[in-house]
Amino acid sequence: DYAPSKEDDSAARAWLAAHESRFGHFIGGRFGTPGEGFDTVEPATGKRLASVTQGSGADVDAAVAAARKAQKGWAALPGHERALKLYALARIIQRNARILSVVEALDNGKPIRETRDIDIPLAARHFYHHAGWAQLQDSQFAGYDPVGVIGQVIPWNFPFLMLAWKVAPALALGNTVVLKPAEATPLTALLFAELAQAAGLPEGVLNIVTGDGATGALIAAHDGVDKVAFTGSTEVGRKIREATAGSGKSLTLELGGKSPFIVCEDADLDAAVEGVVDAIWFNQGQVCCAGSRILVQEGVADDFHARLAARLKTLRIGTSLDKTIDMGAVIDPAQRARIAGMVDAAVAAGATLLQAEGALPDAGSFYPPTVLQDVPATCAAATEEIFGPVAVSMTFRTPEEAVQLANHSRYGLAASIWSENVNLALDLAAKVQAGIVWVNCTNVMDAGVGFGGVKESGFGREGGREGCFDYLKPRALAKAPERKPV
Ligand code: NAD
Repeated sequence: DYAPSKEDDSAARAWLAAHESRFGHFIGGRFGTPGEGFDTVEPATGKRLASVTQGSGADVDAAVAAARKAQKGWAALPGHERALKLYALARIIQRNARILSVVEALDNGKPIRETRDIDIPLAARHFYHHAGWAQLQDSQFAGYDPVGVIGQVIPWNFPFLMLAWKVAPALALGNTVVLKPAEATPLTALLFAELAQAAGLPEGVLNIVTGDGATGALIAAHDGVDKVAFTGSTEVGRKIREATAGSGKSLTLELGGKSPFIVCEDADLDAAVEGVVDAIWFNQGQVCCAGSRILVQEGVADDFHARLAARLKTLRIGTSLDKTIDMGAVIDPAQRARIAGMVDAAVAAGATLLQAEGALPDAGSFYPPTVLQDVPATCAAATEEIFGPVAVSMTFRTPEEAVQLANHSRYGLAASIWSENVNLALDLAAKVQAGIVWVNCTNVMDAGVGFGGVKESGFGREGGREGCFDYLKPRALAKAPERKPV
């Protein structure tokens, strides 16, 4: 009983129409002719949006050659001149924030509210932030050289934000890039290529090659690539690690997670319930650092679950351009089936299901907000990343047990701790194995803070000064003292 208010998609549709909804790769500052490839569809409706080209070995060769040709000149620019280009990219993202938000929401299925308020503004912020580091390169990173040509492969859950996390630091520090967006969500990367061209980025500095995992593997294995930066699943991360082993390439991996969300008995329970909404239903739970394992202290568990069950029924689910929704579609029917399969298996094994009832949109791949209580430890849902709007919940008796449960995972990306006792919260924060810890909040990110995991969640950081070092290589230099004639 609410009136949907729909975002206007005419500019996005006009952009697609201007390309006749067919895209080639962006190599050396221009778009190639569209070739054999595949369609990208709207997850919320199942309708085709556009077709993109499957990147071949020859395409990857051409992109790497263009990046190589541009790299020396780009690195030789004074830092403040590279900074000007990054500021120009940040500003052109802001000026085109609306069309970027709409294209992203259509291609990914996430709510327009999120792309408009989070994905696109944070991406612009990454370019502003890293423009600052480019400007400070001589003073802050003396004794470091750019790595060279960077191969970047990114996932579909935050297509444009992941591009910004990778491209901004690489370019800021004098590297050039060959980036492959995920096959499900290539469109904002292609739109960005066009914007970068308009912003005057020199040709060859940014190259976008579309394609599936086979194209990603070609980039990762290419001899002309000096470093691979990958964000995606732990399984593919492992393959890339094997493919690059012994090659002399540097590598950073931002992988999956099963992050604990710890609710202590003295926590503000309503705030913690809102935290869960943000932790696991933001972006339909397709978030690497999602708080997908709720650990709640026994004495408040019933009260907490009752509040959570009431709250999840109020979430609105709909198509991505509806401005009033809380949740959109998951990425595709296969992902929906995978989520449903893991939930059904957990329920069959005895887990208790908290799920919103009610109609989901007819077309598209939608899955309702879900909590599974008391999942047997043998179920995949208990330990594996579900990557959907599903949290598992279990109880603990003491803070020590909370730490033990939290660390009982192959992953170590993030953790969220809820307590009104700052000493307890900070004590737990020091003991959980995670790259990022949030106290009384969740999913808080900033371009100024390094983001990354420990254990099988990967290595390397994106953002902040620490992230810059992943795009630099140190050069130790010693010169003999001046020798005076005897
Ligand atoms: P995925 O690993 O299936 O694919 C990621 C990218 O890798 C895609 O572009 C894909 O085409 C490419 N790829 C597939 N096989 C490849 C291969 N053999 N060699 C090179 N590239 C290959 O992941 P996904 O399903 O797109 O994304 C979801 C995963 O990403 C989740 O596990 C999530 O946790 C993770 N993720 C992690 C972070 C982080 O910062 N830690 C951020 C976002 C997403």
